[in-house]
Amino acid sequence: ETDMLTNSLVELDRQHLVHPVSSFRGHEARGVRVLQSAKGATVTDAEGRQLIDGFAGLWCVNAGYGHESVVEAAADQMRRLPYATGYFDLGSEAPIRLAAALAERSPGDLNHIYFTLGGSDAVDSTFRFVRYYWHSKGQPQRDQFISVEQGYHGSTTMGAGLTALPGFHDGFGVPYAWQHKISSHYLYRNPLGDDAQTVIDASVAELRAKVAAIGEDKVAAFYVEPIQGSGGVLVPPKGWIKAMRDVCKELGILFIADEVITGFGRTGPIFASAEEDIVPDLMTCAKGLTSGYVPMGAVFMSDHVYDTIADGAGAKAVGHGFTYSAHPVSAAVALEVLALYEGGLFDNGIKAGARLMAGLESLRDHPLVGDVRGRGMLAAVELVTDKDKKTPLPAAVQPATRLFDRAWDQGLIVRSFAQGIFGYAPPLCCTDGEIDAIVERTRTVLDLTLEDPEIRAVLR
Ligand code: PLP
Repeated sequence: ETDMLTNSLVELDRQHLVHPVSSFRGHEARGVRVLQSAKGATVTDAEGRQLIDGFAGLWCVNAGYGHESVVEAAADQMRRLPYATGYFDLGSEAPIRLAAALAERSPGDLNHIYFTLGGSDAVDSTFRFVRYYWHSKGQPQRDQFISVEQGYHGSTTMGAGLTALPGFHDGFGVPYAWQHKISSHYLYRNPLGDDAQTVIDASVAELRAKVAAIGEDKVAAFYVEPIQGSGGVLVPPKGWIKAMRDVCKELGILFIADEVITGFGRTGPIFASAEEDIVPDLMTCAKGLTSGYVPMGAVFMSDHVYDTIADGAGAKAVGHGFTYSAHPVSAAVALEVLALYEGGLFDNGIKAGARLMAGLESLRDHPLVGDVRGRGMLAAVELVTDKDKKTPLPAAVQPATRLFDRAWDQGLIVRSFAQGIFGYAPPLCCTDGEIDAIVERTRTVLDLTLEDPEIRAVLR
């Protein structure tokens, strides 16, 4: 009976549901895997198979699944007031309390919060605010934006151009001419080697050169992820973020930290910027904000950004808004999730993150493991067939699907990047046993992959 239901779902999905960032034809051929339920760090599929979710959905279910108090908070809000617009000077309690709670916990003077529906529209909103800011300052010619190769900043038309991953550009007519990039720090494959100071100095020089080439009075903003997520979990050397922040301050360019993945305990603290000892001019977050239970994102503005926009607009409305900005149900969920984080989940995440990193480090002795990197509950294992030459897995192995499937068969969900990198972002609620299982199952997948004919052919 379950099988018949599943089969009909697979067929309906194939015919009607367009999946994000997928090969449409590849997905039709493979079919959907239907997830049915979840509790803690474990998800159950339609066939009853249980898996540890080592990726917390899409690095978003930071609190883990199945928190009744979150369900209650949402249901209670829906019963009382399922919607309240923020237009016309109206509002509701939950988003107001959430904005205040976030402002209190954010770095420095990031005190003003505009709520979105997710990360992409948070990033997109920053373009509008940044442009408006420079208009308000009487410098409308500052309309050039810089980001970092391998970076991901969402999938709106403009965000996709700031994103520096070819799959988001090809066939879409982006990036635009005003969207510039500097090299990634990517320590493992940096042509300058892996000395931290060398890489920091080179990135500082490159950012300065890029600004000079564009024109110092034309650059509006610089965007970074504290750890580059979708590019393959690339951790900058300690001090890199701060150095880039300092250059932006010196050159008078707005610095924007995209904390959509790194926020809410993913790397340990509530925001990774705090750990880097910086205060961005603007900051974006989403995902862990509501732990993925409902959609929500946020743009944080520092006092000077907010005041400049406010004074520039005067009595005029700042013409940026979404129907669902500051949605009360999302805000009620976010408030309850925050209470859970601070009631122990952040602490558990720090403990579990240390165990995860130590466990993954223990895989370094495996013939296929070239690099292990991460911070807290955000990590990656990069596979190679030659450790000295850092030779990536042959494309014939099809890491994105074959290695994902192999992990699935072991009862583990991990991100499997096309270039042969496993990405980890487990829920912060993981037990020691679950962390150990993530590591052990990864080792099994590595051992099985060593038996692939495509791998054996290149290994000797
Ligand atoms: N920015 C970063 C750094 C992200 O990692 C993501 C999503 O993974 C986004 C923006 C886009 O967020 P969303 O998928 O919620 O639109």
